Amino acid sequence: MRSTLSWQAGRAGAALRRTSLRRRELRADDIAVRVDYCGVCHTDLHAVRTHTGDAPLVPGHEFTGVVTGLGREVTRFALGDQVAVGNIVDSCGECAMCQAGQENFCHEFPTLTYGGTDRHDGTSTLGAFSREYVVRDEFAYPLPAGLDPAAAAPLMCAGITVWEPLRALGVGPGARVAVAGLGGLGHLAVKLAVALGAETTVVSRSAGKAGDTRRLGGHDLIVSADQRQMAAARDRFDVVIDTIAVPHDVAPYLKLVALDGTLSLVGHLGAVTVQATDLLIGRKKLSSAGSGGRPATAAMLEFCAQHGITADIELLPSARVNEALDRLARNDVRYRFVLDLSDLPQNR
Ligand SMILES: [Zn+2]
Ligand SMILES: [Zn+2]
Repeated sequence: MRSTLSWQAGRAGAALRRTSLRRRELRADDIAVRVDYCGVCHTDLHAVRTHTGDAPLVPGHEFTGVVTGLGREVTRFALGDQVAVGNIVDSCGECAMCQAGQENFCHEFPTLTYGGTDRHDGTSTLGAFSREYVVRDEFAYPLPAGLDPAAAAPLMCAGITVWEPLRALGVGPGARVAVAGLGGLGHLAVKLAVALGAETTVVSRSAGKAGDTRRLGGHDLIVSADQRQMAAARDRFDVVIDTIAVPHDVAPYLKLVALDGTLSLVGHLGAVTVQATDLLIGRKKLSSAGSGGRPATAAMLEFCAQHGITADIELLPSARVNEALDRLARNDVRYRFVLDLSDLPQNR
């Protein structure tokens, strides 16, 4: 086994502690990655806050780093290559979804980067708040040159999660897109929609995000608390990407959707209540999305390199992970924390 250092969760709410962990020896199709940067996602916060302590939990599922080891059959990478890894590290490879390049919807459930179960040895996967990760090479992606590796890390969860619905819903030049909620997911949705050529509007609780909306390339801001503004924007958008991370009424956002348009929920993935008439009037569609398949992930990285898109980040030494989680819980970040893992020795 390989030994490395990580930030590991205790029981619900307890601070993460620096702890050593073991990684598997490389299989024929594995690579070892020195984790340099890992984003901090709402999923991490939720996992830490609800952790029972029964099994070890190391969060972190959007990271970039450098290849430091190669399984004997790996040909896609060389030592020293910069790579990016997201929240899926394996899938069955055989079901209809995997065959369609939608490993994120694998019928046997994709193996998650942490909190998943390895398909070969049955062990629990441990995430990338850690100095080393061992991953099947097919689920690592070359990090395109020119993308800052720290600011690119959030592309691998937040970025792909908004990229797939934008593409699947046909967003391109002239499309009218609204992004509800301007956080980790939302700010990347705005950048990507703008780069795809869409006329892009932010829907936010307050007018305080007007400056950021413009800076991100957005064309307009609608204040969701302002009934007049919301009413004036009725039926205006082909696609509404709802990135709000907490339970909320989706009816006001359905009202913004144009005839035959779609509301895609990507922030809060719990139960929603919908009046069928809110869909009926305007033949509106309600959809959702999360993560992405391998082809879409590779395409997203390529697109981001072409358009110079990365996340707006606040970079912290990994030793400040608990501060990052606390501030994320208060939405006190513009717009994504990324941990710099160089304060952990790689091997010990
Ligand atoms: Zn995530
Ligand atoms: Zn599958």
